[in-house]
Amino acid sequence: MKTTTCIQCGSTFQGRSNKKFCSLTCKNTHHNEAYREQNKVLTQLDKILHKNRAVLLDMYNVYRSSPIKLETLQARGFHPNYHTHFFNSPVGDKYTMIYDVGYKVHYDNQVQIVQLDNVA
Ligand SMILES: [Zn+2]
Repeated sequence: MKTTTCIQCGSTFQGRSNKKFCSLTCKNTHHNEAYREQNKVLTQLDKILHKNRAVLLDMYNVYRSSPIKLETLQARGFHPNYHTHFFNSPVGDKYTMIYDVGYKVHYDNQVQIVQLDNVA
C-alpha cells in the first residue's frame, strides 16, 4: 500500500501503486470525458446532419416536392455541405440525401425535397 494521487480529482488515497483513481466514480468520469473528447467531431457532425434533416422535413411537410429556394433552407440553418449519401432515382435524378430525406437541385438554385420510404 502506498499513497497515490487520483488522476481525476487530485485527492490522495491509499492503494496499490498501479491504481490511478480514488474511486469508481472518478474512473468512470475520467473515461467518459476521454470518450466525449474523442467523439467530439462525430457529435458535431451528427448535430449538423440532424439539423439538416429536421429543416428538410419541416419544409417538406409544408411544400412537399414543390421547388423552393435553397436560401429558404439555409435561412433555417441548413448546411448544404453536410449530407449522408446520394440517391439516384430510377428516372435518372440525383438526390443529395440526409438519411431518408433529400433534395435534388432543380433550376435557378431551387430544390425539390423528397422523403424515401425505403432504401433500395
Ligand atoms: Zn478521485
